This record gives sequence, C-alpha cells and structure tokens, in this order.
Amino acid sequence: MDDATTRRIGGNESSFRRVNETLRAGKTLADASKRFPFRCECGVLGCNRLVELTLPEYEAVRSNPKRFFLIDGHEITETEHVVERRERYTVVEKEDAGAEVAIDTDPRA
Ligand SMILES: [Zn+2]
Repeated sequence: MDDATTRRIGGNESSFRRVNETLRAGKTLADASKRFPFRCECGVLGCNRLVELTLPEYEAVRSNPKRFFLIDGHEITETEHVVERRERYTVVEKEDAGAEVAIDTDPRA
C-alpha cells in the first residue's frame, strides 16, 4: 500500500473521529455503563455503520491519538494493527504515514 493510499485512509478515519467528537461533546457522564452510538471509525469506503460504546470506553480509545475503534473485520491491516478485540468493537492503532495523519489531525491535541 503506497503512502498516498495510507494517508487517504487515515484522513477518512480522522474525519469520522471528528464526527464522533461532536457526538461526544453533547454527552455527560451520568451513567458509566450507558452505551451511545458512534460512527465506525474505519477506512472502509462507504461504511456508515454505528458502534455502541460507553463514555469510559470511548475516552480510553481517544486518549491515544493513533487509535480508532471500528466494527470487527473493518480493520485494514496494511495500515493499522488490532490492539484490542471487544464484544462490540475492535480497537486499532495506525502505523507509519497513517499514524502521522492521525496525530496531525488529533482533535484533542
Ligand atoms: Zn466501518
């Protein structure tokens, strides 16, 4: 996979992360076990699936700018590796050029 493709995929994932940060902003942590729907943060073209996470689960992923959550099987292993598989979602960490894009576009930086 070339650098341009890796960066494009990273850009897609980063834009879903921005959408999710907007969704997150409207929620307060009243009940840590309550699940909220977020956009799947994968780089698969045309994916518009939702993933349910609690706010602590969401925050755990967001605390690392190179990490994204997605539906199991939506990982693109040429540019990211799986760090955690959960019942409802999978966490990936970006590599190389994709990691650079992820860090450059971190909404919490
Ligand atoms: Zn997806």
